[in-house]
Amino acid sequence: MSVGAAGGQEHIDADAVVIAVPAGPAGKLLAGVPGTASAVSAFAEVPYSSVAMVTLAYPRSAFPGPLAGRGYAAYRVPAVEGKAVKEVTFTTVKWPHLAGEVEIVRCSIGRFGEEHLLGRDDADLVALATAELAEATGVRGAPVASRVSRWADALPQYTVGHFERVRRIRESVAAQPGLAVCGALYDGVGVGVCMASARQATDQVLAWVQQNAAARSVAVGAST
Ligand SMILES: Cc1cc2nc3c(=O)[nH]c(=O)nc-3n(C[C@H](O)[C@H](O)[C@H](O)COP(=O)(O)OP(=O)(O)OC[C@H]3O[C@@H](n4cnc5c(N)ncnc54)[C@H](O)[C@@H]3O)c2cc1C
Repeated sequence: MSVGAAGGQEHIDADAVVIAVPAGPAGKLLAGVPGTASAVSAFAEVPYSSVAMVTLAYPRSAFPGPLAGRGYAAYRVPAVEGKAVKEVTFTTVKWPHLAGEVEIVRCSIGRFGEEHLLGRDDADLVALATAELAEATGVRGAPVASRVSRWADALPQYTVGHFERVRRIRESVAAQPGLAVCGALYDGVGVGVCMASARQATDQVLAWVQQNAAARSVAVGAST
């Protein structure tokens, strides 16, 4: 199988290929590969959202009560609430080995369609997240440390027609022996689901490689 690299800069010959990149580069990698036009057009239809992760550190005593007792590691804020923060993760609840005097809280900003919020500078985003967290949890005072990490085009959006697009991609990719796809674009964005799709993809290409090797050895045996 031959797959041209995005931008046409590189050409690699391989027995099998797993495409594990977001939709944009995946479409470029497959452009021109026979039989994959349907996948290429489906890739072009997948929108992505960007995210800013505002990480805040508070003294544990700044929170009015036990976080674990609240029964959640992360809570999602519905868009109808009109808040900038869409999800909050209490890291010590999710990963108890981090428990100590300091509570690290991840506040995620940037719903699909709210990219304008990400144009704000870091100090603004910290102020926004701090205010909304105080309102939601009653945490008192300012964080002792903060960091803003920006992830551009990080999360694929499963808009209406997503299953059909994924079906088109998988169907046309399956028609190319030795080619498979995996990643957040397909079945879910959680790391566990991404790993499951990677296992599925590697199983597919390994089956092809083994089948190919067996066919080659039969052909060699027949010619000797
Ligand atoms: C801020 C944030 C927080 C998250 N938190 C959690 C969490 O707590 N729990 C959870 O389960 N999930 C979380 N997720 C979701 C999860 O991390 C992602 O959905 C998952 O890592 C995506 O894996 P992937 O392999 O599809 O993509 P990625 O891990 O993004 O891998 C894609 C790879 O493609 C490469 N690439 C891109 N373009 C090209 C190109 N043109 N050529 C070659 N290579 C290219 C990139 O460099 C990258 O290595 C979070 C996501 C974000 C953005």
